[in-house]
Amino acid sequence: MNIPESKFPRIVIIGGGFAGVNLVKSLAKKEVQVVLLDKHNYHTFQPLLYQVSSSGLEPDSIAYPLRKIIKKNSNTFFRLAEVDNVNAKINEINTSIGTLSYDFLVIATGTKTNYFGSKTIEANSMPMKSIPQALNIRSLILQNFEKAAVTSSIKDRQAYLNFVIVGGGPTGVELAGAIAELKNHILPRDYRDLDSSIMQIHLLEGTERVLPSMSMTASKKSEGFLKRLGVRVHTNVFVKDYDGKQVTTNSDLKLQTETLIWAAGVTGSLVHGLKVESMLEKANRYVVNRFNQIEGYDTIFALGDIASMSTVDYPNGHPQVAQPAIQQGKLLGKNIMRIINKQSPKPFVYNDKGSMATVGRNKAVVDLKHYKFGGFFAWFIWMFIHLISLVGFRNRVIVFFNWTYNYINFDKAARLIIRPYKK
Ligand SMILES: Cc1cc2nc3c(=O)[nH]c(=O)nc-3n(C[C@H](O)[C@H](O)[C@H](O)COP(=O)(O)OP(=O)(O)OC[C@H]3O[C@@H](n4cnc5c(N)ncnc54)[C@H](O)[C@@H]3O)c2cc1C
Repeated sequence: MNIPESKFPRIVIIGGGFAGVNLVKSLAKKEVQVVLLDKHNYHTFQPLLYQVSSSGLEPDSIAYPLRKIIKKNSNTFFRLAEVDNVNAKINEINTSIGTLSYDFLVIATGTKTNYFGSKTIEANSMPMKSIPQALNIRSLILQNFEKAAVTSSIKDRQAYLNFVIVGGGPTGVELAGAIAELKNHILPRDYRDLDSSIMQIHLLEGTERVLPSMSMTASKKSEGFLKRLGVRVHTNVFVKDYDGKQVTTNSDLKLQTETLIWAAGVTGSLVHGLKVESMLEKANRYVVNRFNQIEGYDTIFALGDIASMSTVDYPNGHPQVAQPAIQQGKLLGKNIMRIINKQSPKPFVYNDKGSMATVGRNKAVVDLKHYKFGGFFAWFIWMFIHLISLVGFRNRVIVFFNWTYNYINFDKAARLIIRPYKK
């Protein structure tokens, strides 16, 4: 891998997501050698993936080169590599570009889409966990519009214009709202010869309410916002199958569609080789202690979505959102230095800053500890928090410019089929 020998301990970090990047930053200029590995050469700001899918933003405004993040850290190296497994007996990892030894290993590989064992859903639906996948959705939506505009079959036209989103969590809710805005503002202008009123957006949620991880206020308000935008919300509905043409569910509901977007769940992106008892089987998360050490290992840690730390307040682990990953990454940098300097590490305490979701123009819901609200002010806060959380000044400026332009013009300017999606 062409990593020079060093007199300092080597910390290998797998994954340049929220957790990995914050860990790298907290180890800058410390007396350690840091090696960051990721299968992509960029950090992805996943909370705004849905805006790429719905033509609101170009992908480069939510991605940031990992080499640029480390450019001022002379102790840090980046390698573009997919890590396959760990050999903990000899402190070594095996990757797509070779092996590497470590003194400390940090696994921050996040999650991947969970299809709950359904091969047909996996083969026919559209996941949204990465930038290439978000671009696939963007292309498919626009290709469907084009096909709907030229087909003479009413049945086919309806199937092209039916969009089914499975999973009523923040991702599903935000995407449904954004696609509804395409229907309400873009379709009538771009496709004047197409009857936009026949376009349907269905949001399917298995529990009794959308945004089940948020407050009842947030659920009710967001459902109201979605309905006002024309989204058909179906709760207590499980998808049983999708063959690429028809969605079947546990109820009488059957939908003909060319597009099923799967936002119904995630499962850990495990790195093979660790003891079975160090993992939670169902969730595919590593069991970690309060210092993020993986059970059974002193020098191997897990952070963020892939880590399950059971505490009194979070017996089943912290929520798989950005804040625990960011906070754990920052603390682990300090803790590893403490361990190296023979001091006791500090236990992780999660500072829950609240949660939020937007449902389109002027509409969002925010849950804070003592205050829950929705509407324009919530939407403004949602925009501000997402803008300042983006990595890189350029990205913040571009996103701000795009949002302002789109807001004034009721536009989504990135509706381009750059790389056609082939089913
Ligand atoms: C569509 C979507 C919307 C979301 N919206 C929100 C939101 O609004 N608010 C919020 O707080 N959270 C949101 N989340 C969740 C949030 O993005 C995650 O909780 C957060 O990214 C977790 O950070 P992480 O560092 O643990 O993992 P990630 O950010 O997923 O990073 C993992 C990294 O590991 C790399 N990797 C994985 N496996 C390997 C391997 N074997 N070898 C090398 N590299 C590997 C990946 O390429 C990736 O860069 C959203 C997630 C999605 C998918």
